[in-house]
Amino acid sequence: MDAVVLRAFGNSENLRLESVPEPTVGPGEVLLRVRACGVCYHDVINRRGQLPRTSVPAILGHEVAGDVIVVGPGVQGWGVGDRAATLQRLSCGSCPICLSGRPTLCKKDARFFGEEIPGGYASLMAAPVAGLGRVPAGLSWEAAATACCTTGTAVHVVRTRGRVRPGEVVLVTGASGGVGLSAVQLARLDGARVLAVTSSASKVEALEAAGAHEVIVSPNLDFAAEVRRRSGGDGVNVVLEIVGSATFAQSLRCIAPGGRLVVVGNLVTRDVTLNPGLVIVKELEIIGAFATDQAELEEALKLTADRSIQPFISEALPLADAALAHTRLEQRGVAGRIVLVPRAAA
Ligand SMILES: [Zn+2]
Ligand SMILES: [Zn+2]
Repeated sequence: MDAVVLRAFGNSENLRLESVPEPTVGPGEVLLRVRACGVCYHDVINRRGQLPRTSVPAILGHEVAGDVIVVGPGVQGWGVGDRAATLQRLSCGSCPICLSGRPTLCKKDARFFGEEIPGGYASLMAAPVAGLGRVPAGLSWEAAATACCTTGTAVHVVRTRGRVRPGEVVLVTGASGGVGLSAVQLARLDGARVLAVTSSASKVEALEAAGAHEVIVSPNLDFAAEVRRRSGGDGVNVVLEIVGSATFAQSLRCIAPGGRLVVVGNLVTRDVTLNPGLVIVKELEIIGAFATDQAELEEALKLTADRSIQPFISEALPLADAALAHTRLEQRGVAGRIVLVPRAAA
């Protein structure tokens, strides 16, 4: 089969198309014919060798959609021809933390697609069904592939972790990225008033199109005073913090008493300073949000299929152009997601 194999960590030229043996299907797994695989910034970090659980040679890609062509032993509920999309990571389904409804925190089976499990930069992929969601009829493969990491994460952030309610005021930082554009749409869909922060005036149009009630352009990321002014002086009920350490202090200053700061992104790994007094007197909640579970993925696929949430796919490239896709992503020349599309098997 065709696969883009990373034989050494490093720059994007190390992503080369090869012909490799087809994967075998183990218990609990299905073989997917990959129809589309999203290219995520996570893949760039992985390619550079900054993710400790990946070893080379590796096949990257965790944003995979495809149809089942072989069903492995012990698999129930999946058949040949079923349409599937992947979660970012697995969970065991039976440990206390899974049984408590928090599978994204499972430690018993925390394998990631594209890290421990060979990923979707290939024409075929063996996938444990514990890591799959069902793709509704009519949804394009490109939109299905990217739903998990964008809208699935937004469902986890806005609903599960952020508990955004109708009438609340929500601020989204880093709003013009894949998660941000989905989070803006979902928070608005759920009845919130949505403020979006971006560092670049060129992103305003896309954010307004996504449904942001107000867009604040802040090249220096010193937006707190403006956010407070636009939210009546008190601040916002919820901040969806997608940028992380670089905006954390400003975000904290934007929150109204009783508000929630949901931290889901951290572009630059760095410590932040926090005055506990502020958290105490305002009774703030600082909440982490990570990955997506199966129910959230299927909800994301449904929201995309019924057009409640618009996917932003910038282009579909052949597998052979994986290196080009990474280069574009690193140069930040991408508005929306690039997906790789394997050529149809002869
Ligand atoms: Zn991703
Ligand atoms: Zn578990």
